[in-house]
Amino acid sequence: MHISLTNSATRKKERFNPIDPQDVRMYVCGPTVYNRAHLGNARPVIVFDVLYRLLRHVYGAEHVTYVRNFTDVDDKINARAAESGRPIGDITAETTQWFLDDMGAVGALEPDHMPRATQYIPQMVGMIAGLIERGHAYEAQGHVLFAVESYKDYGKLSGRSVDDMIAGARVEVAPYKRNPMDFVLWKPSPDDLPGWDSPWGRGRPGWHIECSAMAQELLGESFDIHGGGNDLMFPHHENEIAQSCCAHPEGGFARVWLHNEMLQVEGKKMSKSLGNFFTVRDLLNQGVPGEVIRFVMLSTHYRKPMDWTEKKAREAEATLRKWRRLVDGVEATDVPDEIVLALSDDLNTAGAIAEMHKLANSGDRAGLRSAGSLLGLFGDELAGWKWQKVEKTDGVIQFVGDGDETYGSLARAVAQKWHDLRIAKNYDHADELKTRAADAGLVLSALKGAVQAEKVAGFDPVKLEALK
Ligand code: AMP
Ligand code: ZN
Repeated sequence: MHISLTNSATRKKERFNPIDPQDVRMYVCGPTVYNRAHLGNARPVIVFDVLYRLLRHVYGAEHVTYVRNFTDVDDKINARAAESGRPIGDITAETTQWFLDDMGAVGALEPDHMPRATQYIPQMVGMIAGLIERGHAYEAQGHVLFAVESYKDYGKLSGRSVDDMIAGARVEVAPYKRNPMDFVLWKPSPDDLPGWDSPWGRGRPGWHIECSAMAQELLGESFDIHGGGNDLMFPHHENEIAQSCCAHPEGGFARVWLHNEMLQVEGKKMSKSLGNFFTVRDLLNQGVPGEVIRFVMLSTHYRKPMDWTEKKAREAEATLRKWRRLVDGVEATDVPDEIVLALSDDLNTAGAIAEMHKLANSGDRAGLRSAGSLLGLFGDELAGWKWQKVEKTDGVIQFVGDGDETYGSLARAVAQKWHDLRIAKNYDHADELKTRAADAGLVLSALKGAVQAEKVAGFDPVKLEALK
């Protein structure tokens, strides 16, 4: 069995051969810490968490090094500090902890290293000095700029030429730039902004150099995988490659580049102006379990755009409740091969979930439990589950919920009707009833010879009454 991954750098699905199987190394660009992570930010975290888990499974947990940074020096952070009057350090510390809490709630393991940019300034200064020495960077008016024309492969990752970029981009054409696409490695800082002494005066680093310096320090000149959202491919990753390959031409930087596609909400780009912008914490606060967020994310392949919908969240919750009941008290054993195979095929998480359905349907509870452990599901730490046991059984109907009278009689009537439709093989009507019941906060699921009725968030007796 081998892992294959789609390498953005070659645009091909390739067999993954680590440089050193004893130390498989991965770098993923992390958040800029100035506010809560939005739902889209959770996508790369979950995608690369699954990859991390798979690599640990295949090569052994002690043979994988995963680095994800925190960008804690940035103009957005400075702006937030200025508008709130709070010290920068308070804002970055608070936001960093929020990020860790929220990503823990969706079941992400912490990477082996989580470097903060401000701890690696000397390494950045060293790298910039080296780039100047080699003729890849120049100083101008207190800034240091990378000269894109000094690197012949500039634009290769994103498939653009420097001339196209100039034509297509609204770049800031500062008078001191030799080429409009040259980007900042170092810029001067006035006294009221964070700054560090350097050969070019007191200043602060540009964004891109931090990842190059931290990856070099923690993973070396060459490492296996570099990941992030595909919005980072240009200019961020392009610039990381240019800096690192020019500073260490022998190294070659990352071998495999992986990019997740973007997340949308109900078919639209998530944006504050459309009013569909929300954070992971907003969802958790609304009672959506972290595991449901994770499951919805896993049900779309990372290279496809993914759409977050309330319907998907509801269906995910119903599936997980059913599966959690099946694996209750069951120990994880060996992960079934078909799960590892699916994930090894370019991280086919949707395929792995399809395999889990098969395991559940065939009653392989240990297999299901073990599959979940590789995918980071069924963990006790996953936020938000109010675990409910079956409360009573009434004929073919099992009830889960708080068992009040209205619920009991309504649920019994609707569940019985659903059961009868299924017995009569009237599946179209049965499916329709199930969807409408779910919409009224009653999740129906088929067990062997029985029906389970479960009261969930949004329970609406009036809507349910109409379905009897
Ligand atoms: P940022 O804080 O904007 O630099 O983003 C942090 C990470 O989240 C990067 O890997 C981005 O590519 C990723 N990201 C941002 N927005 C989305 C989105 N809508 N869908 C998926 N990933 C995103
Ligand atoms: Zn980066």
